[in-house]
Amino acid sequence: MVKVNLELVEIFKEEFGAETVTECFNCGNCTAICPVSTVDHLFPRRLIRYVQLGLEEKLLEAPETWWCLTCRQCTVTCPRQAYPTELMVAIRKDAIESGRAPPHIRDFLTNIQKQKNPWGVGKFKRDQWVKKANVEVPTVKTNQEFEWLWFVDCAHSFDNRNVPVSNMIAEILNHIGINYAILGREEGCCGNDVRRAGEEGLFQLLKEENEKTFGKYGVEKILVASPHCYNTFKNEYDGYEVKLVLEVILDAIKSGKLELKKPIEKKVVYHDSCFLGRYNDIYELPREVLRAIPGIELVEMPRSYQQALCCGGGGGLVVSEYPGEIRVNNERAKEAAETGADILAVACPFCMIMLEDGVKAEKVDDKIEVKDIIELVWESAFG
Ligand code: SF4
Ligand code: SF4
Repeated sequence: MVKVNLELVEIFKEEFGAETVTECFNCGNCTAICPVSTVDHLFPRRLIRYVQLGLEEKLLEAPETWWCLTCRQCTVTCPRQAYPTELMVAIRKDAIESGRAPPHIRDFLTNIQKQKNPWGVGKFKRDQWVKKANVEVPTVKTNQEFEWLWFVDCAHSFDNRNVPVSNMIAEILNHIGINYAILGREEGCCGNDVRRAGEEGLFQLLKEENEKTFGKYGVEKILVASPHCYNTFKNEYDGYEVKLVLEVILDAIKSGKLELKKPIEKKVVYHDSCFLGRYNDIYELPREVLRAIPGIELVEMPRSYQQALCCGGGGGLVVSEYPGEIRVNNERAKEAAETGADILAVACPFCMIMLEDGVKAEKVDDKIEVKDIIELVWESAFG
């Protein structure tokens, strides 16, 4: 008879809302679909089996736990609602509590704890992009009557490739006439990926700090460009109205407040972000915005929508060298280039970082360019 580790099962059920890990009937679909299983031997099924058999020590020491991208491809494929992704997070949580996080995850978490961003750049530099921006960006101090808090996010504040997108967002929001403000240096990290890395305590701390800051400025509505922030603010914080910048853009296109005049005569392929698609069931919004841009021919990769391959940047792995052998981002970049598209469009700053690296590593950067959908909107509206 199978011995079930009830303590782990309880943690798993309570914290991640999974039906029960005991539902797993070992069909192996999760392992077959997992993007890092084929080469790096991350077998979600085997880890579930360890739980069922109560092999806790083996489970906590399995290095594969840290290879998981938290992409949720296994979870949406599982026929028994056994939630393998959520199990990975639960195992990580236990491993972190017993001091077994590997160095690359420890660095990621320390950077966020100390500097409130995954790269560990001084937190006082969070608003430097605003000082260099060529448009006005209101803050909670200069526009105290704001309706929407634009939570800029770590990547859009610190990462060189994503900062120009922040400029464009500001210009677009100003043009549409949204009454918004940013927190500037008082902004922290949302904590989405800290939670996926298994550091629940730090996640709760970040959440508390953010909610305190939101309370100080009377924030009720939050606008975000990152699907990672969207996921956590919408599903894991309480009581805020949360909207994506792409939703605001689409509304403005439909109402005529944002006119997309200049045609972009390019073949474009869209890469579904895990945190928009599999976590929040948002598949059409980015495609609708792309279709609204004149001249664009939208094509699809073989793996798209719910079956889209992850960019490789989830679960705390966006800033570290992947511990295993494969590079999911390279594989995805190759898949995009094989469609013959000129542009690989993304709706997530982490996808931008990972796939830019991917097209360079695959030496297809002379054929296909990675662009944020917001860059394409901006180019058509103001370019
Ligand atoms: S977790 Fe789901 S997909 Fe994976 S082996 Fe179990 S039942 Fe099959
Ligand atoms: S979440 Fe993604 S990377 Fe992690 S086990 Fe499931 S399919 Fe594999």
